[in-house]
Amino acid sequence: MTQPKRISLFGATGSIGQSTIDLIARDPDAYDVVAVTGGRNIVQLAEDARRLNADIAVTAFDDELDALRDALAGSGIEAAAGQGALVEAACRPADWTMSAIIGYAGLAPGLKALEQGATLALANKESLVCAGSLMKSTAAQHGATLMPVDSEHSAVFQALQGEDISAVEKIIITASGGAFRDWPLEDLPKATPEQASTHPNWNMGQRITIDSASMFNKAMELIETKEFFDVSASQIEALIHPQSLIHAIVAYRDGGMISHVGPHDMRHAIGYALNYPERQHLPVERLDLAKIGALNFQPADETRWPALRLAREVMEAGGLSGAVFNAAKEVAMDAFLDHQIRFTDMAAVVEDVLNKVTVTGHTDSDGMTLDLVAATDAMARRVTREVLQNWMVEHI
Ligand code: NDP
Repeated sequence: MTQPKRISLFGATGSIGQSTIDLIARDPDAYDVVAVTGGRNIVQLAEDARRLNADIAVTAFDDELDALRDALAGSGIEAAAGQGALVEAACRPADWTMSAIIGYAGLAPGLKALEQGATLALANKESLVCAGSLMKSTAAQHGATLMPVDSEHSAVFQALQGEDISAVEKIIITASGGAFRDWPLEDLPKATPEQASTHPNWNMGQRITIDSASMFNKAMELIETKEFFDVSASQIEALIHPQSLIHAIVAYRDGGMISHVGPHDMRHAIGYALNYPERQHLPVERLDLAKIGALNFQPADETRWPALRLAREVMEAGGLSGAVFNAAKEVAMDAFLDHQIRFTDMAAVVEDVLNKVTVTGHTDSDGMTLDLVAATDAMARRVTREVLQNWMVEHI
């Protein structure tokens, strides 16, 4: 009999975490759940920990520990809290770890999991954007495997199977265009957080949905593509595809293109990463292409979505500029969510921060450490808050 696969789920209470749990709960004998983590959704975290019979449940926030302990009372499941506890949970031996914490906070636990030599299923794109070379060198050093979970990167990975990366001319990742694809440009500044939080095709967490509307999500994915597949910035393109059924296309030097077509359901990419190198039955919709009829494409307009232009600049600069980009974007989004700045100000603020913060000297993998990334992240957040203060005086 095969041993159950030891699994840890970071960000278990979120959209990706819940989709992962949906898959593993269908075959409980196949998995031995080590750790589940969450943030403030303690009811969900405790429910998941009990349902999966996890060894430990961790909330990222110290002030939630008592609530978590109460919710787990009598279960025998360990409760812990705080960033240190997240990193400690990542040290527990696991064969497969889901990295689905939102934002920069996902980096440290993911790195720690790689240090244990496990397979890290990477939904947390921020890890590669902020610290791509560190993630890759840590994986190589410890014999760990990075598996893509973002649907576009899973699609590229699948389209590359059996192929040589040196034969690739272009990697094209698709974008639905988000909530405001067809809005008149002059209306974009008036878009509210509520309007930006609704996605036409995908049901996701709020922050990634807003990032989809501003195309910061696609911008992050362009950078993630460069890091994941070690191709140059000029080989990567975003393409608007309103139906979101083709997730990525790999164009080869002989003129052939291999695309990946699949439903709008993250359980496909998660299940692929979970079962790799096998393909197992997954409970996702089977597409009826005759019924769908047509698939449409249009160029990604960098005037409408300046985040794409900024991503190109970040890819050219390399190194720690991704950490600056991500930090500025996260802080700018908080300001947008608080109604302090307009939707279109987010990209302008990020551009301002990129122009103000210089990270030359660390543009290659040499010397990239977690401390250096953390210091860059903190510095970029500080500069973004300063930019925002002036912004509100000058523009609002
Ligand atoms: P959600 O917002 O739905 O979930 C985020 C998870 O992180 C929750 O478990 C949340 O806990 C936890 N969390 C929040 N803040 C912290 C913190 N400071 N420290 C530790 N944990 C925290 O996000 P998604 O599932 O949508 O996205 C997760 C990651 O996957 C992101 O990087 C996103 O870009 C990526 N991704 C998501 C896709 C999707 O379809 N949703 C598709 C592809 C990639 P709690 O809710 O308990 O507060």
